[in-house]
Amino acid sequence: MDKEITQIQIGTARVILVQGDITEQGTHAIVNAANSGLMGGGGVDGAIHRKGGPDILNECKIIRESLPDGLPTGDAVVTTGGRLRAEHVIHTVGPIWSGGGTGEPELLARAYRNSLALALKMGFRSISFPSISTGAYGYPIEKASRIALGSVIEFLEKNKGIDEIRFVLHSTHDLRVYEDALKELA
Ligand code: ADP
Repeated sequence: MDKEITQIQIGTARVILVQGDITEQGTHAIVNAANSGLMGGGGVDGAIHRKGGPDILNECKIIRESLPDGLPTGDAVVTTGGRLRAEHVIHTVGPIWSGGGTGEPELLARAYRNSLALALKMGFRSISFPSISTGAYGYPIEKASRIALGSVIEFLEKNKGIDEIRFVLHSTHDLRVYEDALKELA
């Protein structure tokens, strides 16, 4: 069997695939696959709020005061990391999969791009991403992984200032899917 690709270099930045728990990562920031309410939820969102403590939710509440209708899909905002190892959490909202004909690919790409643009603006040099939208939001992971990696690679090719992007996949299966997608793109 071919050796799986788990790391590539794009200019001065590394893109790394790991299996694990995003709440344990010591990158400068981690990204939360939030929902537009920003009040926590299940999946990775629940895990981040549970481990990070109440300071994250308090900052989300303040952000919501200026976003009465919630955070639009594809946008990103930043809070403290509270008690997490990561100093900051970037909250973004991926699209809910409803067949692929309602702009889901572009919205998913925007969630990655806007998270990265915010990280760059904030001076975060290392960022961990979960597999946005592929849990409760039902986006097929084979499709989502190509968009996730493609958006990140394109951003790193165009922008300097980030040293490491880590994709933290929760299961061995998800890691394999991302490895296959990276092999196609690299
Ligand atoms: P969404 O609503 O965007 O689909 P979910 O949190 O339901 O978000 O799922 C997104 C992905 O995050 C799924 O692949 C899920 O397995 C994964 N996930 C859940 N908990 C964690 C965690 N602690 N660390 C990394 N990934 C996680």
